Amino acid sequence: MRAYRMLQWEQPPEIVDVAIPTPGPGEVVVKVAGNGLCHSDLIMTSMPQSIGDAIGWHMPFTLGHETGGWVHAVGPGVSSFQPGDPVVCVSPTSCGACEECVRGFDNCCEYGITGRGYGRDGGLAEYLLVRHTRELVLLQQLDPTIAGVLTDAGATSYHAVKRVLPKLVPGSTAVVIGAGGLGSFAVQFLRVLSSARVVVVDNNDARRAYALELGAHEVIHGVDEHTARNLRSVIGGRGAHAVLDFVGIDSTIAAGIGATRPTGAYGLVGAGGGTLKSDWTNHLPKGGEVFTFQGPTIADTREVVALAEAGLIRVDVDRFGLDDIADAYEALHCGTLRGRAVIVM
Ligand code: NAD
Ligand code: ZN
Repeated sequence: MRAYRMLQWEQPPEIVDVAIPTPGPGEVVVKVAGNGLCHSDLIMTSMPQSIGDAIGWHMPFTLGHETGGWVHAVGPGVSSFQPGDPVVCVSPTSCGACEECVRGFDNCCEYGITGRGYGRDGGLAEYLLVRHTRELVLLQQLDPTIAGVLTDAGATSYHAVKRVLPKLVPGSTAVVIGAGGLGSFAVQFLRVLSSARVVVVDNNDARRAYALELGAHEVIHGVDEHTARNLRSVIGGRGAHAVLDFVGIDSTIAAGIGATRPTGAYGLVGAGGGTLKSDWTNHLPKGGEVFTFQGPTIADTREVVALAEAGLIRVDVDRFGLDDIADAYEALHCGTLRGRAVIVM
C-alpha cells in the first residue's frame, strides 16, 4: 500500500510502498477513507532527532492522526466491530490501565507520547492498524472521509472548551486566539455549549471572516508585540472569563494571559513554542487557572462525534488526493485553506 512517511529527521516525508498491516489479537485494521492534516504534522517534520530520541520515537513512521475509514479486518477476539463498519480513530493512543487512563484522563497516559501518526504508523496510508477497539468510534450518518478531522481538530478544541465551560456563565466572554483548523471548531463548540460572547483573534482576514460565519460575535486582527498589551482593553471590563490560545507564541501567551480576568482561565493549546514569562503579582489571573494539555480523551472524541451526528456542528474540509499532499500542507502553512485539509485515500 502507499503511505506518506517520515524517513529521516528534518527531511520532507515521502510517499512510499509498505506492507498492509495484519491485525493481531484484539486489533483492527481500518481501510482509510480520509485523513486530516494538522499543523502539528508540520512541527514534526522539522523536529530535530534530539527531541525524537528524547521521547523515544524511531524512524521511519507514517504521519496522520485524524483518521476515518471502514473496518477492513479484525483480529482474534474482536467481536464489537465487523468489516465494513464506518469508524473514526481516537487521535491519542493510551494503555487503558494506568492511573490516568482509569480515571478518564487517557490523553495523559504515559504511553500516549507515541501514537498513530506521531512516532508510530498513522493514517496517511491506505490501511491503518489500531491496537485497541476502545480507540474506535462507530459512525452513524457521518461520512468517514471527512469525519477523521473530528478526532483532533474537533476533539482537542472540544477538550479545551469543555474545560472552561464552568467559567462561561451568562454574560461572560470567551476569546479564541487563532481560528484555524482547531480554533474554528472551538468557536462552534463555544456557540453550541455556552451563551458566552465569543471574540476571535486571528491575523488572517479570511479566517476572521470564516469565524464570523461560524458564529463568532466579534473578530480582532492578530496579536503581535504591539497589540499584546491592548487585547485586554479591546475585551473590556476586567478581561475575558476564558482565553483559548491555538497559536502559543510569546506574544499570544502574553496577550492571552493578560486578557484573562481574575478567576478566569487561560488554556494553551497551540504548539508555537512560546514561553510564559510572568510576574505572579500582577500578571497571572488571580484565583484563576493557566493550563495546557495534549489531545482529547476517548470520551471527548465520542461527544464530538455525537454533536456532529446531531448536526450541531459543521465539518468543513478541503479535499486533496495523496499525490497532492505537499500542496495541501503548503496551503495549511500559508493559511489559504477554508476547512481542514483532508487527504482522500
Ligand atoms: P492552523 O494553521 O490551521 O491554525 C492556526 C491559526 O492561527 C491560523 O488561522 C492563523 O492565521 C492563526 N495565527 C497564526 N499566528 C497568529 C497570531 N500571531 N495571532 C493570531 N492568530 C494567528 O493550525 P491548527 O492545525 O489549527 O493547529 C493550531 C495549533 O495547535 C498548532 O500549533 C498545533 O501544533 C497545535 N495543536 C495542539 C494540539 C494539542 O493537543 N495541544 C493538538 C493539535 C494541534
Ligand atoms: Zn494509560
